[in-house]
Amino acid sequence: MKRMKMYYLKNSICFIAMFFILGLYSCDDISDPTSINIFSLQDDVNLGRQLDSQIVNSSGEYSLLNLPSAKTYVQNIINEIIVSPDVKYEKDFVYDIKIIHNDEVANAFAAPGGFIYVYTGLLKFVDNEATLAAVLAHEVAHCERRHATKRMTKQYGISFLLDLLLSDNPSQWEEIGSNLLTGLALLKNSRDDEYEADEYSFRYLQSTKWYPGGLIFFFDKIKDNEGSGFLEELLSTHPMPEDRVAAVEKMIEDANLPQPDESSLFTTEYQEFLKTLP
Ligand SMILES: [Zn+2]
Repeated sequence: MKRMKMYYLKNSICFIAMFFILGLYSCDDISDPTSINIFSLQDDVNLGRQLDSQIVNSSGEYSLLNLPSAKTYVQNIINEIIVSPDVKYEKDFVYDIKIIHNDEVANAFAAPGGFIYVYTGLLKFVDNEATLAAVLAHEVAHCERRHATKRMTKQYGISFLLDLLLSDNPSQWEEIGSNLLTGLALLKNSRDDEYEADEYSFRYLQSTKWYPGGLIFFFDKIKDNEGSGFLEELLSTHPMPEDRVAAVEKMIEDANLPQPDESSLFTTEYQEFLKTLP
């Protein structure tokens, strides 16, 4: 069985390498080598689906909240974000959100291909819908900007993939296979990924009913809760240098936004939603 898996993996990586050699790889900006991605959009979805099934089947660590009305509420926020004209892959990616029932963790994360997860701890951590929408738009941006598979491309590098083709070294195949499947490497975002996801979160929200600068309220809350174990996982998957705050403040200033109020924050509606959570 394992041998079979490795065989398929090897073939798909050969295919990816061929794709690259033929110059068919996707690249947002030819002058920027960090934007090279040797994986296809469908690879993103396939990888995300594998991670999703690991999460769904690991009842202990990631037990899902079984409350359809809550799932609908957060899914509707995602659905409004992805109609933004800046979202490109709303037809290619699944854009499905799941709520993890754990009040001890205030985190949200995304697997490639549009699989997004939010903890009840994060839902209860934020005060209004605009802040939650900003955090979810940040996760949509990790998917859209394909940060995970770009990092994998960079991590392994084309020369490594070519070596692999030539050397046929079984232990290297094992290593790449286990990294693909454990997913841990996929979820650790770099600082640059964070800046970019913040920037795109702001862009996506500009075409919605929510105040686009909602991330700033999230950063304020993080500051108020610094040092608490509650945020450990958030900060390990989304690094939080001080200048992320300054970068979002600058976007707000440059966009000349009107002051946020109830018509763009939706605090009352959000507090009503929180009352429905266990
Ligand atoms: Zn992030």
